[in-house]
Amino acid sequence: MDTEKINLYNASSTDLSSAMADWGQPAFRARQVYRQLYTRYAGSIEEMTDLPVELRERMIGESTLGTMELVDVRKGDQGLTRKAIWRLPGGETIESVLMIYPDRATVCVSSQAGCPMGCVFCATARLGFLQNLSPGDMVQQVIWAAREIQAMKDQPVAKNTHRVRPGNVPPHLTNVVFMGMGEPFNNYDNWWASVERLHDPDGFNLGARSFTVSTVGLIPGIEKLMEAPLPVNLAISLHTAYDERRSALMPVNRRYPIADLIAASRAYAARTGRRVSFEYCLIAGENDSADEAEALANLLLEERFPCHVNLIPWNPVAGTGLARSTRASVNTFKALLDGRGLPCSIRIQRGVDIDAACGQLAGSYAEKE
Ligand code: SF4
Repeated sequence: MDTEKINLYNASSTDLSSAMADWGQPAFRARQVYRQLYTRYAGSIEEMTDLPVELRERMIGESTLGTMELVDVRKGDQGLTRKAIWRLPGGETIESVLMIYPDRATVCVSSQAGCPMGCVFCATARLGFLQNLSPGDMVQQVIWAAREIQAMKDQPVAKNTHRVRPGNVPPHLTNVVFMGMGEPFNNYDNWWASVERLHDPDGFNLGARSFTVSTVGLIPGIEKLMEAPLPVNLAISLHTAYDERRSALMPVNRRYPIADLIAASRAYAARTGRRVSFEYCLIAGENDSADEAEALANLLLEERFPCHVNLIPWNPVAGTGLARSTRASVNTFKALLDGRGLPCSIRIQRGVDIDAACGQLAGSYAEKE
């Protein structure tokens, strides 16, 4: 793919207006192109048939609809979970996951190829850091998801599963979560540019509440986000209430220990009025004991700010030497938090059969090749 061409998903509406003006096109052409990108989810420049043929030909010569190549889409959960595998121009692969529920549709987006953070339980960490994704790369993943939903509505994929019935696929994408490969705050400016693009009321028009960014706990990123004009949802990967254990699981904790992270989370909740989510992967014998549940409840209840714990039965990643908590341990852990009055839920597992569940994204196309 020609990387010299303009990636249309990297262009703001202002950039498009300038390009069209430079090409001698009337002002309304930029609006037409923007509509094709963000309300019609055009799959190619050729598909933009409301544009004159000469303009389309010029656009094909000088621009591209994304620079990533979609190399595979794997389906799990009877088609209700879909993993897209993308190849970047340099050959690296990244992944995105679309999950359809009766009342919502969520896409989990990658922000980096590989990741430098080194969390021991995560498949992506094993790749190391490969490269940051551009705003357009993140937008491209979201538009893919929107197109998949559009296609599903025409051709329902599931009967009698998860209460989704033919004709009952959500009408559009409702949530974008930056929880795929990479740490979004390590690529803050590009990540934020993608949020602004997807939020634009003249384009994709997704509300601030529809975005969730998940961080391993980079406090400067949380502080920067506090000043941002859109109060998006913040999720913190916590995984234990003990510093020593967290540092062993997540090296970032040595730099940003738990007390500082909780203080930053509390400040974010106070500043934005939003509830902060804490992600907690349950790993057998590591962080799933009654003592850990008590420590977690003490930590979060002491601070008295609106928060919620997402308990995630950890998905096995080969070679880590770690094991998934039993169902009984997960239920006991939740019951202990419930007993203490800490809001929590067990996350529904999706995509385990296609290596698309939390912590499993690893550019698996490359592996299978
Ligand atoms: S869990 Fe997230 S931050 Fe940690 S290594 Fe994996 S992708 Fe990176």
